[in-house]
Amino acid sequence: MAMLCVAIDSAQIAAARIVDGDVGGDDVRRAAIPAASVWESCRNLLTEVAGEMPITAIGLAVVGPVDMAAGVVAPVDIPEWRAGFDIVGAIRSLFPSAAVRFLVDGACLALAERNLGHASEAIDSLVVLVSDLVSGGIIVGGLTMVGRTGNAGNFGHMPVPGFDGPCRCGSRGCLDTVAAGRSMVEWARARGWTGQNPRELIDAARNGETVPVEALARAGTALGLVIASAAVLHDVDLVVVGGLAGESGPALWDPLVAAVAAHARTGNLTELRVVASELGEEGVLAGAAILALSGEDEPG
Ligand SMILES: [Zn+2]
Repeated sequence: MAMLCVAIDSAQIAAARIVDGDVGGDDVRRAAIPAASVWESCRNLLTEVAGEMPITAIGLAVVGPVDMAAGVVAPVDIPEWRAGFDIVGAIRSLFPSAAVRFLVDGACLALAERNLGHASEAIDSLVVLVSDLVSGGIIVGGLTMVGRTGNAGNFGHMPVPGFDGPCRCGSRGCLDTVAAGRSMVEWARARGWTGQNPRELIDAARNGETVPVEALARAGTALGLVIASAAVLHDVDLVVVGGLAGESGPALWDPLVAAVAAHARTGNLTELRVVASELGEEGVLAGAAILALSGEDEPG
């Protein structure tokens, strides 16, 4: 008996097979999201990872937004799916006897953090995922909130005071426009930096290059402002930050911590800790694995 865990973001799909409860870290397979025939690419990868074994459950982490009740994803950055794609139906047609469970990627990271990471130390916490885009999850009473439609914890589209750049959601000044990996890179390139991706940007900031340091600093400040707002609202004592932000060093982290300290001032937040996730690149996929394991023995 085997299960699958799957993570689909705007750039790639990652999948691994779970046998007897074990997810082999070396066995994670990845494929880039192509410009066309996205499902075909996903189907090929899933079929390859499943092999000949019967699949009993699938845990799926997807980039939002989602319609949880309908099993539909509608990511802005995957044009073929932008108007809505029945991801759960498509996966069920491939594995008809599997139970399919899915959450947005930020909520999956929250699930992994709650079970395997720092968030296991708290009953109520926030998890922020900074990758190509920004998302996150809210843990209340030990449970990951999904919200009415499955999109709770969408930190990327919280407005940030002092920022006004246009956001692809139609608003202005969203956290995504400042702190998403792609936004940091765009901002730096518009000011003469010639690198291509967030990893290069982080390395350049470590080497002290002025524009990359500034790009990470404004992202850190924006993240800190939003984290402070969310911490005030949810009365938590722990915020876990994963993805790029957790890896980007003091250029981002120091302004983030300073903004949280300046704005999370109510007495209940004096013990608030903001820590970097230690689950690494596979944190979201680990959350999908937990989903798959929780879906076993239940009807899809
Ligand atoms: Zn937005």
